[in-house]
Amino acid sequence: MTVLNPATEEVVATVPGATAADVDRAVTRAAAAQRGWAALAPADRARALRRFAATVDARIGELAALEVREAGHTIGNARWEAGNVRDLLDYAAGGVERLTGRQIPVPGGIDLTILEPLGVIGVIAPWNFPMPIAAWGVAPALAAGNAVLLKPAETTPLTALRLAGLGREAGLPEHLFQVLPGTGPVAGDALVAHPGVAKIVFTGSTRVGKAIMAKCAARVKRVTLELGGKSPNIVFADADIEAAAASAPMAFLDNSGQDCCARTRILVQDTVYDRFLELLAPGIEAVRVGDPADERTQMGPLISRAQLDRVRGYVPGELPGVRGDCPTGPGFWFPPTLLTGLAPDAPAAVEEVFGPVAVVLPFTDEDDAVRLANATEYGLSGSLWTRDLGRALRVSRAVAAGNLSVNSHSSVRYWTPFGGYKQSGLGRELGPDALTAFTETKNIFLSTEV
Ligand code: NAD
Repeated sequence: MTVLNPATEEVVATVPGATAADVDRAVTRAAAAQRGWAALAPADRARALRRFAATVDARIGELAALEVREAGHTIGNARWEAGNVRDLLDYAAGGVERLTGRQIPVPGGIDLTILEPLGVIGVIAPWNFPMPIAAWGVAPALAAGNAVLLKPAETTPLTALRLAGLGREAGLPEHLFQVLPGTGPVAGDALVAHPGVAKIVFTGSTRVGKAIMAKCAARVKRVTLELGGKSPNIVFADADIEAAAASAPMAFLDNSGQDCCARTRILVQDTVYDRFLELLAPGIEAVRVGDPADERTQMGPLISRAQLDRVRGYVPGELPGVRGDCPTGPGFWFPPTLLTGLAPDAPAAVEEVFGPVAVVLPFTDEDDAVRLANATEYGLSGSLWTRDLGRALRVSRAVAAGNLSVNSHSSVRYWTPFGGYKQSGLGRELGPDALTAFTETKNIFLSTEV
């Protein structure tokens, strides 16, 4: 597989893709490594993960530079992402000794509920946040006593391979955490189909997620799905309009809009609609788009030509709206774009574009806002801006999404749960229960009457 720098179209590296036979070998080796890992004292497992975190911490600059080259992320974001991997490993390490079972009173004996590791976990990651999303699965799965096989996206295998190298350097047992670069239909599918893989953690498109869920059903294989989104940003007339308008651009332009939580549907109460647009438009035009390695850059390129073509398909040039500037090429550039005057059910208003594109739509009252917010098949996240506490809670409860933020756009923290309603996903990742998702619960009853 050829890895291109999306900002220049230069070849960064070529990487051999794993075959089904490679996956099979990796599963056998991972299963052997897992048995020893699960038998370690919790403190020793925790210590190994902390060493892994420290090794990542020492290489933040190197990992970030690699992410800039293979994914086109701005250097500031890339540094944050590498730091996030370190934090995830530290957080998971802290959970190892707290992963405990229960004793439930039952007459005539003693009843034990114990948590067992699942075995070998397959993590299939997307290209939009290659390092953190891989670590969302890898860190808690290892902490709970499992082995992990990570299949990175075709376009972004390099940071994943480097992370596996750092794991070994930190002293993780050989074959416990392996990276299998390869295509979805070959390496990804082989992981999903393999009887030795106990659980699939998939982050990616809803289309592929559905196919993986169906395939897992054949073996009742455990599966967690983190899928697409089309998140609303609801601005009520009683909000701090200036603050809402100032934060709205980067809430959909960060990572060039290639963010499952991007607030791409800006819903504004009709009485403040014109004023909000007046404040918002200059903010979009001012976003600095260009060389992602430049510290001042706010937005880089899209990941690939295919993604650029997809975004262009949603946004023909004649659509009315506000557009910023971007380089012409080489590289996969698309300007910051806000579409105005679209019908609420237009494809760009309800489907995930996964580029620097948002729509702005007016609403009349609270019920109308909730109806519009819920009018997609997705339900990952959303923001609402209001000074009315009752409204903040009512609307947060009424929007069918896994992660809501009030007067903020923050959705993802490694220590709070994250995941989607509706077709945005199945199961939750991160947060205090992250390790439990990588265990099987076993109940044992011991009679004291025999
Ligand atoms: P994608 O579905 O094309 O690919 C994701 C991964 O699945 C890749 O590693 C790919 O190689 C693999 N894959 C593809 N076909 C496969 C198959 N048949 N069997 C097994 N594996 C297969 O998604 P993408 O374009 O890489 O990522 C973008 C999507 O991810 C967007 O829809 C975005 O919203 C979603 N996403 C969701 C979250 C979340 O937490 N909900 C986070 C980030 C991205």
